[in-house]
Parts: sequence; C-alpha cells; structure tokens
Amino acid sequence: MAEEEEEAGVNHVVLLPGPLQGNVNSMMKLAQLLALHHFHVTFLTTDFIHRRLHRFADIQALSQTYPNLELKTISDGLPDDHPRSDNALADLYSFLNSHAKPLIRDILVSQTAAKPKVTCLIGDGFLGGLTADVADEVGIPLIHFRAISASCFWALFCAPNLFESNQLPIRGEEDMDRVITTLPGMENILRCRDLPSFYRGTESNLVEPLKSTVFDCHQTLRARGVILNTFEDLDGPLLSQMRLKFPRVFAVGPLHAHLNSERVFDAKPTPSMSSFWEVDRSCLTWLDSQPLKSVLYVSFGSITTITRERLMEFWYGLVNSKKRFLWVIRPDMVAGEDNNDRVPAELEEGTKERGFIVGWAPQEEVLEHKAIGGFLTHSGWNSTLESVVAGVPMICWPYFADQQINSRFVSEVWKVGLDMKDVCDRDVVEKMVNDLMVHRREEFLNSAKAMAKLAHKSVSPGGSSYSSLLDLIQYIKSTSRENN
Ligand code: UDP
Repeated sequence: MAEEEEEAGVNHVVLLPGPLQGNVNSMMKLAQLLALHHFHVTFLTTDFIHRRLHRFADIQALSQTYPNLELKTISDGLPDDHPRSDNALADLYSFLNSHAKPLIRDILVSQTAAKPKVTCLIGDGFLGGLTADVADEVGIPLIHFRAISASCFWALFCAPNLFESNQLPIRGEEDMDRVITTLPGMENILRCRDLPSFYRGTESNLVEPLKSTVFDCHQTLRARGVILNTFEDLDGPLLSQMRLKFPRVFAVGPLHAHLNSERVFDAKPTPSMSSFWEVDRSCLTWLDSQPLKSVLYVSFGSITTITRERLMEFWYGLVNSKKRFLWVIRPDMVAGEDNNDRVPAELEEGTKERGFIVGWAPQEEVLEHKAIGGFLTHSGWNSTLESVVAGVPMICWPYFADQQINSRFVSEVWKVGLDMKDVCDRDVVEKMVNDLMVHRREEFLNSAKAMAKLAHKSVSPGGSSYSSLLDLIQYIKSTSRENN
C-alpha cells in the first residue's frame, strides 16, 4: 500500500467513454476503481453529458469520495436541443470523429505541476479509430474498453470470416432461424436472429456510420489491450478465443459488483454517480411494502424507443398476468406519443392495483431489492450484468446492438431466463411473465442464484476479475515507466 501511495499522482489515466448512459455507467465504475487504486484519473465526457451528470448524478459525492478523480469535458458540437438518442447516434458519432480529435489531444498533452503527465488512455471502443489515432499522435499507450458484451464484440470482430464462410449475410426473414455454425467459441449457439442487430440489413436503425463503427472492432487491434465488463465463469470460452487475437484481454467485470466489493470503507448504497435522468426513489418505498420476490421489474434502458402500439401490448400483457410490476417509462420512450392518447380504464385499474410506474429508477438498488422476482429487460449489457449479480431471472425483449445476442446467452447458455425476441404480443408477455414468476420460478431462481454466486466470487480476492484488475493496474504502471 505504501508503495502505491508513493506512486499516487504519478500514474495519470484518462478515460474516454462513448457518450451514452450505458457506456458512461460502466466506465465510471472503472474510473472509481482506478481512483481507489491511487491513480490520478481524468474522466472525459462531452459538455452535454456533463450537464446531465451535473443535474442528475451526485457529482459532489463523487469528488468528495475520489479527490483524485477529475471530470473534464469536450464539446460534441451538436446543438443543445439535438436528441442524441436512438437514430441520432449516427450524427453524434460522426461529429465526434470529425471534430473531437484536437480537443482530446489538448487534454492528453496538458500538464501542470499539480497534475501529472497522462500515461495511459483508456478509450471506449465505440469511438472506433478515433482513440487510436489520438493516442498514436501523442505517443500515449491506448487500452480499449468495450461496453458491449464479449459475445457481441467477438461476433462483430469475426464478421469478415462469417462472410467468407457464407454464413452471412442474412437472406431475409425466412433465413432468421438458420444456425450459425462457425463462430469460434459459440459454434451452433446462435441463429441468424440472435446475431447483433447490425447484421440485419433491412432494420430501420441500421445507420451507416454507426454500422461501420461497430464493424470497426478491428481498431481494437491497434490498442495494447482490451478491457471487458465480464468474468471468466460467464464468458470463458469466448475470452479464450479472444486471447488468440488480442495481446491482452482484461475481464474485470461485473464492474458495479467489483466496485461495491472494493469500496469497503462505505457500506451504504451510493446514490447514482452517473445518471443522465432524475432518479425517482419513491419506487423503493413501494417495493418495501410488496411480498418477497413478487414484483417483475420492467425497463428497456436509456435509448430504446417503442411505439404506442407496442407499449399497449406490454401493458396488457403485464396487467393480464396478474403479477405485480414496477415499470420504467422514460419521458422520451414512447415514439410519437400524443398526450391525448387515453389509457384504457382496465389498464389504469390493473396498474393501480398491482403496478408502479416511474420515469427513471435507481436500477441497481431495485434489482437488489428483496421484493423483485424477475426482470423484463431489453437486454442491454449493463442491465444484464446487474440482473446476473442480483440473481434475478430475466425475460428478454432485445431492441438493438448487442441485445439480440445477449438475450440468446441469457436463455440458451446461462439459462437464467426466457427470450421473447422479435415478438411483441400481449398473450406472449402474459405467458412469459407467468412462466418466469410462477411455473418455472424455482428453476430460474436457482440458476440465477448460482450465476450470481459466481459473479460475486469473480470480484472477491483471488477471483478471476479481481486478479485481472490487478494485472491491468500493473500493466498500466509498467507502460508509464516505459514513458518516463
Ligand atoms: N438504468 C437506471 N435506471 C433506469 C433504467 C436504466 O439506472 O430506470 C441504468 C441501468 O442500471 C444501466 C443503464 O441505465 O446501468 C442502461 O444500460 P444498458 O447497457 O442496460 O442499456 P442501454 O441504456 O445502453 O440500452
């Protein structure tokens, strides 16, 4: 410890997350872990994200707890009223790629007496070649962070081979159930419909710049290593395959559990330190009055939008299931919502009796609450890991990106839930809710509990993620000596 303290301030790491809630959440956990390990950390976000964090996250608690963690910002160049969500991601991505380089470079080379020289950049792979270009230019070692699942990253990385072996492209709707046989580490597990959504050529949200970014996973070969938010017992076969291609693979997740296990000095739950939305904690009080494992938590994450028609299918399914539910409906979640649209009386009645709706929940705390018995999720990678750690079985309704493959792993590989992909029908929702919460309850609770145990073991002293974080720390320190 003394030696580490002596080194405090010498190792300065800059973290650059993609400007999305999930990416910021997971990289913020990594930033806190590195700060706990005595690194000087700069967390670099866009002005827009910074403003949201300032409004909705407890930035003050963050800087008090981690005096060596500093937030810095660059412009993303978009007007304030730009939606920066869903299809608009493409604009954001291309703007950052064309304008952000000099801004990032200035931050990487700036140095003051109080702030040591930057010795490593941990860049979000979402930003593709941008981070590698800047790191090369200023001569700073780069490590990529991948906020998506290992399975998605690997499936995208292997895209050229899949095209070569005629496994791709997907040839229309009738091809969706064809099994992909040649993906190393996941042979015969995926059908075409389980591949990351970017492979679905006709999908409306398949926007070119985003598509090329994600396909650009090969940019990660320009980094010294790659950090993944996963653990060996969850993704071991894939990680072994990746190690054949990448010089260093650090599997340090689940990051939120890792942080909680190292933050021994403060056992109470932390308010969100990275939320983009106003957290409504009233749902925790409501949960306190519900029976053990009786409530289904429903959330589709920070980006998903759904039509009113689909909203109604879910709503009827939930109410008709007769189970209790806590549902996050973000203010911007329903596409083209007309405020005059009336909610049918039977839904209002059913919701009043057994439901609770919020605009944004303290999700990690909700999933850990004893009243929660299941999670209807869009299968975002953070949500999936948070559910795994809490031992909560899932019903998956994937929307885009890595969610299609994550939901396949949930149902067919880890067997901790059901996959409802490509269907949005009130009868199916009702049936799946009852399967998860009643008919197959014990089976799913047992497998989810077993997986949660493995997740906690991985981040405890001697566990695979715990050791991998120490390897990462040692590696960053060795590269900084290289630079001095
Ligand atoms: N989240 C939250 N409250 C909510 C909904 C989501 O705190 O009401 C958090 C959730 O805990 C997760 C993140 O938002 O960490 C969503 O990330 P994910 O990768 O699951 O999905 P995305 O939003 O990127 O689609």
